[in-house]
Amino acid sequence: MLNPFLHGTVTEVERIAERMRRIRIAGPRLRGLEWVPGTHVRVRVGDPLRPRAWLDGVLRTYSIWDHSPEGHLDLCVLDHPSAGPGALWARRVRIGDTAALMGPKGRLVLRDGARYHLFAGDETAAVAFGAMLRALPAGADVHGVLVADGPGDRLPLPGGDRPTWVYRPAELPDAVRSLDLPDVPGVAYLAGEARACQAVRRHLVDERGWSRRDVVVKPFWTPGRRGMD
Ligand SMILES: Cc1cc2nc3c(=O)[nH]c(=O)nc-3n(C[C@H](O)[C@H](O)[C@H](O)COP(=O)(O)OP(=O)(O)OC[C@H]3O[C@@H](n4cnc5c(N)ncnc54)[C@H](O)[C@@H]3O)c2cc1C
Repeated sequence: MLNPFLHGTVTEVERIAERMRRIRIAGPRLRGLEWVPGTHVRVRVGDPLRPRAWLDGVLRTYSIWDHSPEGHLDLCVLDHPSAGPGALWARRVRIGDTAALMGPKGRLVLRDGARYHLFAGDETAAVAFGAMLRALPAGADVHGVLVADGPGDRLPLPGGDRPTWVYRPAELPDAVRSLDLPDVPGVAYLAGEARACQAVRRHLVDERGWSRRDVVVKPFWTPGRRGMD
């Protein structure tokens, strides 16, 4: 069986927000990678030196924050309070470490021809959204809201004040409900905590009359469940 992983080396680790580390992985195998903003990779967060670890190693999924065709990609990993193998990997990873990943893939990508783009999620969703926002044409109509613990968790997103940020105990569905949106539907991208994503989709479909086809949902995590893909 062929080893399905791409290997690279960690070349930068930066605290990009209070609880978020940006990890740069570089290497010849990452050159010319076909990357669509919003997609993700699966990263082996177990011990890369353990024999045959790629067969049974622990995997976690991370959106690509940025990619350079010259051969590096950046991930941003949240250090959350119930840190499992993924958050622990990001806490411990050092420049020079080997990283193994699969992908990229995913359906959380921009839709052409949208009248406007609505982004809603949490600080983990902001990673994918950052890449998607950077890829939008100048002048694209953007709406949306992100929920985080506090201003220190904000990722630097392009495009000024949209999406806006709100802070817990504010909740994502209420924050979306209070957005002043155009009268016609656009395309919505919902990511982050699963139940919040589902509640926002219900709101858009049941209360604002959107078609389910106009709502792209990708749950990233949910309390009590480990390593969602
Ligand atoms: C498509 C996709 C893209 C993703 N992109 C990113 C990304 O760019 N950055 C990122 O940080 N994560 C991202 N995630 C989530 C990531 O894959 C892991 O689930 C996350 O890092 C937690 O892994 P863990 O091993 O630390 O905890 P796990 O062992 O998976 O979970 C342990 C417990 O921690 C709690 N938990 C998990 N996540 C959070 C959280 N965010 N806040 C509070 N509590 C939590 C839950 O109760 C969970 O049961 C993405 C997930 C998917 C499916």
